[in-house]
Amino acid sequence: MSFSLIEIDPVYHVYSGQFSSFPEEIAVHGLSCRRGGVSEAPWASLDLGLHVGDDPAAVIANRRRYLAALGLDASQLVTPEQVHGEAIARVGSREAGRGALLYADSIAQTDALITDEPGLPLLLCFADCTPILFLDPVHRAVGIAHGGWKGTVRRIAAKTVLRMQQEFGTRPEELLAAIGPSIGPCCYEVGPEVERQFKEAFPGHEAELFSHPDEEGGTHLSLWAANRLQFEEAGVLPEHIDEARCCTACHHEDFFSYRADGGRTGRLGAVIALRPA
Ligand SMILES: [Zn+2]
Repeated sequence: MSFSLIEIDPVYHVYSGQFSSFPEEIAVHGLSCRRGGVSEAPWASLDLGLHVGDDPAAVIANRRRYLAALGLDASQLVTPEQVHGEAIARVGSREAGRGALLYADSIAQTDALITDEPGLPLLLCFADCTPILFLDPVHRAVGIAHGGWKGTVRRIAAKTVLRMQQEFGTRPEELLAAIGPSIGPCCYEVGPEVERQFKEAFPGHEAELFSHPDEEGGTHLSLWAANRLQFEEAGVLPEHIDEARCCTACHHEDFFSYRADGGRTGRLGAVIALRPA
């Protein structure tokens, strides 16, 4: 298992992160990088978020460029509002294009999308929060969840696995999961309230979740570990959980980072779409 950045558009030098464990013949997926787009600073340049103050025409052009390089049709993409909640929506051909051109038209109050519709690209946007990808190669279904600290402490990854079981008959032991680039335990210092909630939600796992890398500094949290724990509890096999282990704050020359860029920045996109059977 590995995660690597690949140049998918040699004309505009667009890069995309890919997990080697996700079979390309079943689904196309990617985590977009910062370069190769048309947005101006502070969103320069491949900003995929329509809700962060960037020129919508630039974002739509970026989405078109990135999805085209993945072989996908950006006019068909489905994207949710993302409110740091735990709502999961199953989408299909009826929802094609929801949120593609207008943020107000995206799937409301939702932080995870799942589908078994071939060719329907799912898009979620991130800047330090954790993109979580799901692929059931047996029942041919995919999903993406938004794991910020709030979604993670509410177990959105585990809840998405459960929902895929209900909707598609997904068996956890057959599911492939991936934890994308996001703020790492190296850079993610949290306050006492967040620490308390994670201790309560994941009792007995303090050693995996928390660290104190700076002598004088506070507690650092690993969202990667908290999401891996949920997958293991849900019955996903450890060898089926791929992790980018790539910190967006440390690597903010490659990825947008809310913390490293001082709050005003673009959004990377996590995209997945099933190929036709
Ligand atoms: Zn870092």
